[in-house]
Amino acid sequence: MNERVDFRSDTTTLPSDGMRRAMADAEVGDAVYDEDPTTNRLEAMTAELLGMEAGLFFPSATQANLGGIMAHCGRGDEYIVGQLAHAYRDEGGGAAVLGSIQPQPLPNDPDGIIALDAITSAIKPDDFHNPVTRLLTLENTYNGLPLPEDYMRDATELARSHGLATHLDGARMMNAAVGTGCEPSEISGRFDSVTLCLSKGLGAPVGAVFAGPKDLVDRAKRLRKMLGGGMRQTGVIAAAGIYALEHNVSRMREDHDRADRLSEIFRDCPELGAGEARTNMVFLTPDGVDMKEFTSFLAERGIITGGGHGKLRWVTHLDIDDEAIERVRRACKEFFGR
Ligand SMILES: *Cc1c(COP(=O)(O)O)cnc(C)c1O
Repeated sequence: MNERVDFRSDTTTLPSDGMRRAMADAEVGDAVYDEDPTTNRLEAMTAELLGMEAGLFFPSATQANLGGIMAHCGRGDEYIVGQLAHAYRDEGGGAAVLGSIQPQPLPNDPDGIIALDAITSAIKPDDFHNPVTRLLTLENTYNGLPLPEDYMRDATELARSHGLATHLDGARMMNAAVGTGCEPSEISGRFDSVTLCLSKGLGAPVGAVFAGPKDLVDRAKRLRKMLGGGMRQTGVIAAAGIYALEHNVSRMREDHDRADRLSEIFRDCPELGAGEARTNMVFLTPDGVDMKEFTSFLAERGIITGGGHGKLRWVTHLDIDDEAIERVRRACKEFFGR
């Protein structure tokens, strides 16, 4: 009966026919010798888009963040990071395990901000007892929320005034750019380096780009090799990234509109505790609703959602159309009997 509509994540998108054609037609060479023209093009166009000198294609944003953090920090150095940030909590502890880099996690406010005074007091003095604090890492979007522009300005200026480098985990920063109406480079340009994920809302099946100054990117390239991310005829997958950047950025507005509509639908059912849409995400904190019963009811109607810690997360993306939103509306009406 129902085709499944999957709201768990924008990572579930399947490559479109046009993207698959671009992949099939990609001109390729050995990327480890820098001879893959499609990968070189993706790296150059991403660097330009993000206002950086150079770009480097990685298999995943996790590896791009790790290679980037390791390019900034040496063994025994320290990076400051939100304690709910992906680059601290959701990457297997890579910086500590593989990079011997000590994380200094700090609390994230609900809007993703790390308080400036917390950053200041976490920066270690120049004292042989202490690790050397090298890097501040921020995340944008954070649970779908774009970081406020003045916060990014103040936090990066603060870091710089203490001699720290700055890295943006911008896995979903295209959603932030589209959501706030600013140029991507206005976001990433405040940072020394940035990671952009191609396989979230951009809809590519695989890949990420790390971008920054040329000497830093060269260091990251050696580290990528060490981490096993030096790949060969990557044009086949880089072509999907190029296609994504050319076709799937401005259309993110549709995802954000649909997230708005989802949030309205949910707010008709106050028990669901719906928050406002945050770019392409909506969070529910249900109260007095049996979550398991609700999600099973939805699943029977082909609607898949995810979550945890008492919350349900709904993510809109390329494979969620208007009909999928209407299906959610009907299911909620039926479930709550109104
Ligand atoms: C998904 C995500 C990553 C990791 O991306 P992968 O390509 O899945 O490794 C990193 N940071 C943030 C903020 C993410 O959402």
